[in-house]
Amino acid sequence: SVVVVGSTNLDLVVTTPRLPRPGETVLGENFRTVPGGKGANQAVAAARAGAAVEFVGAVGSDEFAPVLRDSLAGAGVGVRGLRTVAGPSGVALIAVDGAAENFIVVAPGANGALTDLHADDRAAIAAADVLLLQLEVPLPTVVAAAGAARAAGTTVVLNAAPAATLPGELLDLVDLLVVNEHEATVVAGVDDGQPLDALLKLVPRVVLTLGARGAAYADRDGLRLRVPAPRIEAVDTTAAGDAFTGALAVGWAERGGADVESILRWACAAGAACAQRPGASSALPDRAAIDALHDA
Ligand code: ADP
Repeated sequence: SVVVVGSTNLDLVVTTPRLPRPGETVLGENFRTVPGGKGANQAVAAARAGAAVEFVGAVGSDEFAPVLRDSLAGAGVGVRGLRTVAGPSGVALIAVDGAAENFIVVAPGANGALTDLHADDRAAIAAADVLLLQLEVPLPTVVAAAGAARAAGTTVVLNAAPAATLPGELLDLVDLLVVNEHEATVVAGVDDGQPLDALLKLVPRVVLTLGARGAAYADRDGLRLRVPAPRIEAVDTTAAGDAFTGALAVGWAERGGADVESILRWACAAGAACAQRPGASSALPDRAAIDALHDA
């Protein structure tokens, strides 16, 4: 099983012929609300990919809270660790223009109030095969969750998104780091085209996602792999990284980290299947869709 300790946001998305300049008002077109947040997206991705998933996070006391809770529960994600805190839920204000250019403002809201782990959360982490973390909730909570996992022998997978430099106390608890090319340079602190070598000085295993080029893996035992992504017609790559990371956690949980190449190929199929469809969380593929693209 997989436990995610992370963020949940409601994306408030409006399309507009062009983005406004500061102080300007423009008339938009469609408006829609979409459940998001890297934590919730990766939890849903892992559940759709076939794992038993528990989510530890926080929603606010507003009208968005039940939407976020129902979205997770509706995808089969366990929400016993989802608390309600006073104040607003996390939201992302997103405007998208005709050229798919966007601006995004995130107000973390309740995600910023996820400051402690309960005994039940620690028990869930201890019972899981994989703990999956991102960087959209307070860092001390991420460190505490990773510490609980390490103490219990649960594998710690960290998706270092949004990109940040990481303190040693967190890096020391990470078993597997998952980054895209931008995050790799920020975490490594160097931009020399060889991020895997620099990252292996920080953590024992690294997965680097490469968009349409697939993914790479390296570990301190000297194993190096490169797998291609399935060739697809990309429609919308939003959440492809979340689909990839959720499926990677599932593959790792099921195989105990054995046969990394197969796990990476399957995760790439999940990312590509997501990129084939419009939308973000709504485009996260189920296991049948991942298998179909993997076996194509
Ligand atoms: P992020 O969205 O976090 O920047 P990437 O762009 O590297 O991450 O995409 C994550 C994964 O999704 C890739 O490793 C790949 O497997 C898949 N993917 C993304 N874009 C494409 C694409 N155009 N064609 C095929 N697979 C893709």
